[in-house]
Amino acid sequence: METKYIFVTGGVVSSLGKGIISSSLANLLIARGYRVTIQKFDPYINIDPGTLNPYEHGECYVTVDGHEADLDLGHYERFTNIRTTRANNVTTGRIYQSVIDKERRGDYLGKTVQIVPHITDEIKRNVKALGNTGQFDFVITEIGGTVGDIESLPFIESVRQLRWELGNNCVCVHLTYVPYIAAAKELKTKPTQHSVKQLQEVGIQPDILVLRTEKNVSPEMRRKIALFCNVAPEAVIQSIDVPTIYQVPIKMHEQHLDELVLKRVGLPTDGEPNMKPWLHFLDKMAYAEKTVRIGLVGKYVELQDAYKSINESLFQAATYNDRKLKLEYIHSEKLNDANVDERLNGLDGVIIAPGFGQRGIEGKFVALKWCREHDVPTFGICLGMQCMVIEFARNVLGLAEANSTEMDHATPYNVIDLMEEQKSISNMGGTMRLGAYDCVLRDNSRAAQAYGKTNISERHRHRFEFNNSYRDSFEQAGMKCVGENPATHLVEVVEIPEKRWYIGTQYHPEYSSTVLSPNPIFLSFVKAAVDYSEEKNK
Ligand code: GLN
Repeated sequence: METKYIFVTGGVVSSLGKGIISSSLANLLIARGYRVTIQKFDPYINIDPGTLNPYEHGECYVTVDGHEADLDLGHYERFTNIRTTRANNVTTGRIYQSVIDKERRGDYLGKTVQIVPHITDEIKRNVKALGNTGQFDFVITEIGGTVGDIESLPFIESVRQLRWELGNNCVCVHLTYVPYIAAAKELKTKPTQHSVKQLQEVGIQPDILVLRTEKNVSPEMRRKIALFCNVAPEAVIQSIDVPTIYQVPIKMHEQHLDELVLKRVGLPTDGEPNMKPWLHFLDKMAYAEKTVRIGLVGKYVELQDAYKSINESLFQAATYNDRKLKLEYIHSEKLNDANVDERLNGLDGVIIAPGFGQRGIEGKFVALKWCREHDVPTFGICLGMQCMVIEFARNVLGLAEANSTEMDHATPYNVIDLMEEQKSISNMGGTMRLGAYDCVLRDNSRAAQAYGKTNISERHRHRFEFNNSYRDSFEQAGMKCVGENPATHLVEVVEIPEKRWYIGTQYHPEYSSTVLSPNPIFLSFVKAAVDYSEEKNK
């Protein structure tokens, strides 16, 4: 079967959830047996979001092949269980870089290099790259930003050209917003009309409109939108706010989004997607009554997207443990010895978040000391694991000035230090230890019990590491290095076996946790938190 291309654009405002709609559509098509992938085109100039701080763009997601990617790729993986790669996320910066490289090589044979056709050709080449592998029946392409933005124009123009080239193998889905004006007690369709007009002005007629709304958009209103926007009435569907994003595939299927797409590309619409495993998850979510209270100690707590994958992994793990997740954010900058008792008391488990730099770090040590001494299930991820090591060095090994050389390069006890191969690196972009690496877990360690095996592979994003010259001291004092990279002997997992559950991972397990295949270490952590809460309630 020829690859079909679905383009998802957005209008009116940003943050409408194009990523969730794209993921939901992929989910439904996969449940119908098709091979699907999703890619995101981001109109900003950065080569990748790796150099963006979380205030700018939320979490930086990491693919197995070590690409620092937009957080929407996390949604794609969580909803579809497929693995993305660097081919699934392309920015304007990457497009230009590649065109400029070609120009310098002389590939354009003396021609003037222009946005049309050279930039658009490069965009089109990237759009089709995954499709050309022959591995996919559908390639869904989400165009970042909002229609009408100056910077997304070359992408939109490329979609227009591709629509001609692809003919019936192409579907355009446009996501818009239908605001509710409280004073008038009315939903307003005008912004949608304008946004579709804007798309039409650049030569794209959407096939399907998805209306983001907080209130029900009446059939009559949808018919009106269809009429004004040149879209079939049944192809105007609403995406009303739901308690969890994981219900969106079901909501989309109820309104036949999958069938509309199949019909448009000439594929049979009979039969139903197999949503059984997905519905099982939703059922568990609906029937969970008891809660599990997890605290997340980090410095970006005012920003809900900064720890997106951790939130979702915890939510999945709580659901599979038949619990509602009560996640409490604890600002590491505001945590100190005087208030730690009050802030952490009552929590069933604590996560120490990843991060970079000095800010908020002392609060993480305060939290860790408290958690270790009170024997609360505690999970340190990346910087969180490094903080576990430093806190242990300071308060158990008695090395009061122990630190990571990231925070203090003159520390006499560099228990966390720069990796050897990082020492000569001066470029910041794409130069960390990135992507999936193998890890061998010690037999019978709690981590190995969690995974149910000793050979695992997880994704990384860091420059610093456990300093192996301290390994024996830690082992003797009770913090065990139970996971290591078989090739480099870098320490990947530490744990204190005598505690209820006290584990730090240098890797980021949150990147590989999906709805249908939740990450085992999160499941185990939340299970320990649940057991602890039961124990407390006895
Ligand atoms: N800042 C630490 C490092 O670079 C940890 C990074 C992280 O938490 N992702 O090693």
